[in-house]
Amino acid sequence: AIAYVNGDFLPLDEARISVLDRGFLFSDSVYEVIPVYAGHCFRLAEHLQRLDDSLAGLRISNPHALSAWTELVAALIDANDGGDLSVYIQVTRGAPPRRDHRLPSDVAPTVVAFCQSRGEPDAAVMRDGIGAITHVDTRWHYCSIKSTSLLANVMAADAARAEGATEALLVRDGAVLEGTSSNVFAVIDDRLITPALRETILPGITRAAVLEIATREGIGHQEIDTLTPAALAGASEIWITSSTREVFAVTRLDGKPVGAGRPGPLWTRMRSCLQAMAHE
Ligand code: PMP
Repeated sequence: AIAYVNGDFLPLDEARISVLDRGFLFSDSVYEVIPVYAGHCFRLAEHLQRLDDSLAGLRISNPHALSAWTELVAALIDANDGGDLSVYIQVTRGAPPRRDHRLPSDVAPTVVAFCQSRGEPDAAVMRDGIGAITHVDTRWHYCSIKSTSLLANVMAADAARAEGATEALLVRDGAVLEGTSSNVFAVIDDRLITPALRETILPGITRAAVLEIATREGIGHQEIDTLTPAALAGASEIWITSSTREVFAVTRLDGKPVGAGRPGPLWTRMRSCLQAMAHE
């Protein structure tokens, strides 16, 4: 696997950054994960726009113009022989000469990128769906910024694993917001529901694609302010969406079956629409 670090392409296991890098010391950095289908990025412009928004949110200046990012990503995919991949990009505030909470003034951002293979989803997951739990959201407030400050996400995901589930759906102030690495949808009274975007939700690229498909297909849908855990528990279908997983059906929530306890008909339809869109 070939990685990119600050202008150089090199084997991933030789890629290095400084221990003084603020991404390492403070999680002072942002990232993107872009799915690649047969060598082609899905919604690259949207991912690069969100990267720019995340950088602006942390007052890190974007080290590259859109065209340079596009070339960098294409070169990295080429260097890794294309195929079905996830491109990971991380931009940190950089590595100043000393550790200091205060933002440094003259430091160049660190840019790291590499690819991971992105195989077909597990057949059992497609057939049976996944389990999820609801879990208190202990993340910082600005979750719409895709920062690498992911410890709360990691610990909540591990709480899910400890209960035999795959994803934790995060609840704050009585509202289900999103998963630890996914957005959440529910089918309630035959309508597709998702929490409306706010500062505590990442504007998922897959989420946007699902809403676009719902509009195009005439599927009744609504972005709502408060999706309560009780309303979610009564849904006939629950889905999670993300760039690496597309759309997964959640068939058990907190140990109880969701609807009929099987991936639902709207999920089947949405999944095939999303895959068609990704392969366009
Ligand atoms: N929410 C969170 C917290 C995430 O980490 C992710 C995955 N990056 C998502 C939502 C889904 O976003 P996307 O569809 O852009 O991958």
